[in-house]
Amino acid sequence: MNLSLRFLGVGAAQAVELGSSGAVLERDGEPLLLIDCGPETLTTYEKVYGALPRAVYVTHTHMDHVGGLERLFYRAYFDPALRGKVRLYTHAALVTHLQSRVADYPDVVAEGGANFWDGYQLVPCSRGFWHERLWFDVFPTRHHMPMTSFALALRGSFVWTGDTRPIPEMLAGYAAHGETVAHDCGLAGNPSHTGVDDLEREYPAALRPRFVLYHYGSEADGAALAARGYRIARGGERLALASPNPDVVLEA
Ligand SMILES: [Zn+2]
Repeated sequence: MNLSLRFLGVGAAQAVELGSSGAVLERDGEPLLLIDCGPETLTTYEKVYGALPRAVYVTHTHMDHVGGLERLFYRAYFDPALRGKVRLYTHAALVTHLQSRVADYPDVVAEGGANFWDGYQLVPCSRGFWHERLWFDVFPTRHHMPMTSFALALRGSFVWTGDTRPIPEMLAGYAAHGETVAHDCGLAGNPSHTGVDDLEREYPAALRPRFVLYHYGSEADGAALAARGYRIARGGERLALASPNPDVVLEA
């Protein structure tokens, strides 16, 4: 199995020029799962793949991660081939937030007859979910209030932290099988996000070569992180991943 992670955007919420943080897991060169859907994510996605995503995982409901879901609803709803078929995976604790942030609009279609979730196949999860015969783990991170942001992991292959402060207690388990770890990291930390000093203080040095940093504040910040010896993700970049552990792959 040939897996890769294509970064669509790598910027912090205010770094619009770097694109909203998000990526696509590809299998054998084909898009398998979009991770987060910010305001301009679909524009980039369609440019790269010439089609709309068939599956999305939502880490949390800040607008730079879900701002594109209304647009995807309209595209999906009015396309008979897509209506109700775009799978949207998210932790069950986020369903009420998702409802209030993007789905709770009166008469989502002016002519009536439609509910927001008619556009999607919503798949709430708790420990994780199956998608295309792969098991993905989902676990809480530290971003604003507890249980409002959740990372994604494919054992043996990758961890995508989503927005978070350092989570050494989680990565000790979820990144224990050689995974590439795409981690939120800017030049300076704050109560909401990881900074490079936090990274160095909180994680064992042995983990550092497996980090790929995203969600930084500017091109210059990215260059400074790279100068400090870290691998940084760039928008559009495609990163080859190791194959997942056999225990998370259901053979056909
Ligand atoms: Zn956030």
